Amino acid sequence: MPVICWFRRDLRLADHRALHAAVAASAGEVIPVFIFDDAILHDGYVGAALTGVTLAMLTALDHDLRQLGSRLIVRHGQPLAELQALVRETQASGVYWNRDYLPYAIKRDTAVKLWLRQAGLQAHSFHDSVLVEPEGLKTKGQQKPYLVFGSYVKRWSELAYAQAEQLVPAPTKLVPPDADLSSLPIPSLADLGFELQQTLPTLGEAAAQQRLSQFFDRRRSLSVLKYDDARELPAEAGTSQLSVDLRMGSISIRQCLQRAVDLLTEPLSAEQRQGVDTWIKELAWRDYYTQLIYHNPQMLKQSLDPRYDQIEWRNDPAEFSAWQQGQTGYPIVDAGQRQLNQMAWMHNRVRMISASFLVKDLLIDWRWGERYFMQQLCDADPTANNGGWQWAAGSSGPSAQPYFRIFNPIAQSKKHDPHGTYIRRFVPELANVPNRYIHEPWTMPQTLQEHLGCVIGRDYPAPLVDHGFARERALAAYREALQQPAEE
Ligand SMILES: Cc1cc2nc3c(=O)[nH]c(=O)nc-3n(C[C@H](O)[C@H](O)[C@H](O)COP(=O)(O)OP(=O)(O)OC[C@H]3O[C@@H](n4cnc5c(N)ncnc54)[C@H](O)[C@@H]3O)c2cc1C
Repeated sequence: MPVICWFRRDLRLADHRALHAAVAASAGEVIPVFIFDDAILHDGYVGAALTGVTLAMLTALDHDLRQLGSRLIVRHGQPLAELQALVRETQASGVYWNRDYLPYAIKRDTAVKLWLRQAGLQAHSFHDSVLVEPEGLKTKGQQKPYLVFGSYVKRWSELAYAQAEQLVPAPTKLVPPDADLSSLPIPSLADLGFELQQTLPTLGEAAAQQRLSQFFDRRRSLSVLKYDDARELPAEAGTSQLSVDLRMGSISIRQCLQRAVDLLTEPLSAEQRQGVDTWIKELAWRDYYTQLIYHNPQMLKQSLDPRYDQIEWRNDPAEFSAWQQGQTGYPIVDAGQRQLNQMAWMHNRVRMISASFLVKDLLIDWRWGERYFMQQLCDADPTANNGGWQWAAGSSGPSAQPYFRIFNPIAQSKKHDPHGTYIRRFVPELANVPNRYIHEPWTMPQTLQEHLGCVIGRDYPAPLVDHGFARERALAAYREALQQPAEE
């Protein structure tokens, strides 16, 4: 009897635990299905970029399944009803899937599991998308969820490393679903009501494997071995760029960690070892935020520390729009926003700078920025994104940026883009501005502005706000909300 493998955010064949188990249970008679769900597609958070990523990865998955003799069955509707129909049509004996830890997914999957059990069918869900599941790691004595990353990561490593030893192979052959089993064509973005302005990277399992190999290629000057320093330089390709693959599962997180752990067994310099260790820690942040939201689902709408919801945000729509478009007059912020608007991706350091600028310099509610990032990012992930925004706002407990530590966008720019290479790449108006002025072009003498054809206020915006003034304003607003004296 066939079984159904329900693909969701795990669009690959290698090291796919649900698929592996489904193949074993049915001698390869697996019905691979993906269901478009309007509740997700039109929830106001999901944007064209992530939807475009999903469509491209589904196309690649269908192609890869066909190489094994099978094909992807695509349906569109309410997942429980669609699965019920598919079970009826195929006489499948059960459904296999990998677990997802967001509140909506948990509710959806619980309903599916309940129905399957009541119908006497098999329901098998698997630990797959994270290294350590949210229920898998709690504080030692009290068994409470972690609220501090530093303590979490200390105990995370052992559990995570054990997972990296448990990869399962991709199937080599699958029994094709019946020829008359219907499948919708993979829709276009327009079919789903989206329009994409950005350019996406090459997507699919093969592309993800290539990104991983490149990042671990020791011959490259910017491999994981240099990560510890290179990750702070947005002008360099010093990070893995695997976030999009990890978001929709075109690569397995266990495989990523396994590569890193394997590399650590080779002779490495202290600096190289540090590069690999730091990268592994980033993978831990991903798990940390997943468990934080799993245990505190109200975070998706509120500040984890509720005092931060008392902040009197200014929420100026014109300033928000200038930030969105990369027209704030702060080159590093504008470069980041324009990178996002063009490439559907932004370097982590600049995400931090730009988020801090929106929340603290402009005093705009972190939820506005969070929603915009969700709609623009190709790796848009409610856990990491919410985590990143609440980190910048200072509202997610002890591991967040403290409210009184306010990034200076000019100092950050000088430190992380010292030659203005990143700025010039995304803000062409500033291409000819000398290094001396690139981080604060409004300080250029008027004659030089005229000479370069880059007059501030005409060719490139004047700063939306003075950072020194904005800093004091933010401190006052935060102090007022938190009703506690500032600690400098
Ligand atoms: C305001 C803000 C919003 C963010 N929104 C998202 C988002 O929607 N989706 C997303 O995947 N990441 C998000 N991040 C985290 C981080 O910026 C991206 O994961 C990273 O830039 C992706 O690039 P990379 O794959 O080259 O990362 P690498 O530096 O190579 O890191 C490897 C992987 O670790 C994970 N990772 C790295 N940093 C973090 C982090 N701080 N939190 C959680 N996971 C992390 C990612 O899966 C990443 O692919 C956000 C950060 C901030 C400050």
